[in-house]
Amino acid sequence: MQPSLSVVRRKPKDRSRLEGLAGRLQLALRTCSRGVGDEVDSYLYVGSGFLRLAIEERLLAKARQARVRRELEAVVAELSKAISLDHQPFSATARGLVVPASSVKGNVRSRLELSFARGREGFRSCFIRASGAGRPPARGQQGWRHYRIWEESLREERGSPCDCTGGWEECEVCLLCDLFGTAGLQGLVSFSDFVGERVETERLNLPTGEKLEAVKPGSVFKGSVTFRSLEPVELGLLLYGMGLRDSRVGKPVLLGKLKYRRDLPHVFGVVRYELQKLELAPFSQPLKVDGLEIPPGGGAEGEVLGRLVAGLVKLVRTTYGGELLDVDEVGALEHLEA
Ligand SMILES: [Zn+2]
Ligand SMILES: [Zn+2]
Repeated sequence: MQPSLSVVRRKPKDRSRLEGLAGRLQLALRTCSRGVGDEVDSYLYVGSGFLRLAIEERLLAKARQARVRRELEAVVAELSKAISLDHQPFSATARGLVVPASSVKGNVRSRLELSFARGREGFRSCFIRASGAGRPPARGQQGWRHYRIWEESLREERGSPCDCTGGWEECEVCLLCDLFGTAGLQGLVSFSDFVGERVETERLNLPTGEKLEAVKPGSVFKGSVTFRSLEPVELGLLLYGMGLRDSRVGKPVLLGKLKYRRDLPHVFGVVRYELQKLELAPFSQPLKVDGLEIPPGGGAEGEVLGRLVAGLVKLVRTTYGGELLDVDEVGALEHLEA
């Protein structure tokens, strides 16, 4: 097979101009649960190496301040409790448990990167973290499930990611770098942290020896994505990357740590994105799709929003045709293990 590095690139949109669609998507991210009709009960783990350090710092400060034996013993008791609970904590901020903005963005972006197969002129997208493509790992090797699931788009190298560090006026980027940004180029979409709203955690001791504080099936995180200077098809791509197809509720997709493992007592990382509201900024162009029209400053929810999603995804499909894969990553994973 001839290695090919062709990625379709063009000048990025002018960042100093307001054009096209601008607004905000309000979203929920839910871990799949049989209790609400999903096919699987799934845990989710997204780590942060941060909280544990914070605990230790606090205890160290206390230990330093301890002046009598009783105070010191209290600190030691607390410390040993902290150590016995040495499960890697779920990612958290002052707002509680969160799936960080960067994790959600990375998840959506990489799903889109992997969903583009070679088109007539080349690939629509680079791999922003260039690697992995080219040689298939053998069964059981690091990354083999990932490779098998996305084989059709991973078969060929795509070369280096787009780079605008020399100035965006001169550079050329792929479709996804224009949307999500790359070195030297700010993205046109921006993700918030997804904050836990109805979340229960459970401390899991895995047969691998790992100890995790994971989120249980049926947990809900909420966040938003703001966008500017998008064409309708690009807004549609963003939704497509979340697994949305013909309604506000996306198909099950994979997110977080251990998402490719099916040899553990728990399933991890099967989630759904759910679009709850779309709002357009007052300075946005109106959004016209499939006979629907959302005016600047307006919004959509419920049934209208579902039709809007279906219309935008249809537009994505007619625009990119056979270049755009529709991989059922959860189903493909089950198939690999069978
Ligand atoms: Zn992988
Ligand atoms: Zn790129």
